[in-house]
Amino acid sequence: MNQVDYLRISLIDRCNFRCQYCMPADAEIEYLLQQNLLTFDELLTLLKEVFIPVGFTRFRLTGGEPLLRPDAVEIVRAIASLPETQDLSMTTNGFLLANKAQELYDAGLRRINISLDSLDPDTFNEIIGNRGRDRWQSVWDGIQAAYQVGFDPLKLNVVVIPGVNDSEVLDLAAFTIDRQWHVRFIEFMPIGNGQLFENRGWIPSEDLRGQIRLRWGLTESSVRGNGPADVFRIPGAKGTLGFISQMSECFCDRCNRMRLSADGWLRPCLLNETEQIDLKTALREGASGAELRKKVSYLLGIKPEINFKQRDSGTTGTYSRTMSQIGG
Ligand code: SAM
Ligand code: SF4
Repeated sequence: MNQVDYLRISLIDRCNFRCQYCMPADAEIEYLLQQNLLTFDELLTLLKEVFIPVGFTRFRLTGGEPLLRPDAVEIVRAIASLPETQDLSMTTNGFLLANKAQELYDAGLRRINISLDSLDPDTFNEIIGNRGRDRWQSVWDGIQAAYQVGFDPLKLNVVVIPGVNDSEVLDLAAFTIDRQWHVRFIEFMPIGNGQLFENRGWIPSEDLRGQIRLRWGLTESSVRGNGPADVFRIPGAKGTLGFISQMSECFCDRCNRMRLSADGWLRPCLLNETEQIDLKTALREGASGAELRKKVSYLLGIKPEINFKQRDSGTTGTYSRTMSQIGG
């Protein structure tokens, strides 16, 4: 079993997109009230007094859309300057990135993942639920800005949905040939939009690799990160291709992460809906660092069992919370 030292921190549950697979347009999503979000000070206290002492050293800021949080840059600066931080990264939809890329870099962020599900603005706008408003260009500008500022590795996340963007797999993969970008194809999971999942299904990574292999060939490779991706490279390409295959393969025994929601719930497994701990309430009620560490250590202790229980029950059920609420 891997050491669990990687924490995905959701800064906010809100988002400026409504991606069909994550927050379907017709879903009634109850957003957290401002007073229920962990504050900057509470987050830093939890990191310094709880997570770092129990062994977490690698952090990813996510959401919802993390850049909607007004203090996102300050949070980056504070976490990057903790001596124990070995790695800090962010997953963003890129919409607000063009104006923030330099500030984030200067604050100490070096790695970034940007979601880009389509190269076609119409398809893109349809996926993100903004028909009629072009947001593709802003995301593209954000990607370019991040590249110019020097984020490395710069990863592009693509959730592949049959009949929606699967025809673009080769075009997206081709980006890695001349640019040192890392494109990661994610199998669509039944989290967030069970209906879309039922209607469309999902495509196994091996099918995508088959298409790419046929066109250019593929060799095994690696790229810095904490992820469960299997990494390949088109021969001679500058960047790499990652495949996140949580539907077709089980990587529970490689799982090194926990998730902290924007309202301070610690979740030991993405798919587990029962074993969670409310750290924010405990903190606000005056729990000491030692008491909070005891709670987190308990979850660390039972995580292997949870992982495997989840694996044994399969990943084909649908889950009530969206990735934006869990902190994808
Ligand atoms: N808003 C940011 C973004 O989109 O990059 C960060 C949060 S988002 C929830 C994190 C990641 O979860 C994104 O790469 C998104 O594509 C992925 N995601 C959301 N719902 C998913 C689903 N049902 N299946 C697979 N990936 C999903
Ligand atoms: Fe927002 Fe990211 Fe979810 Fe899309 S995937 S709705 S950008 S949180």
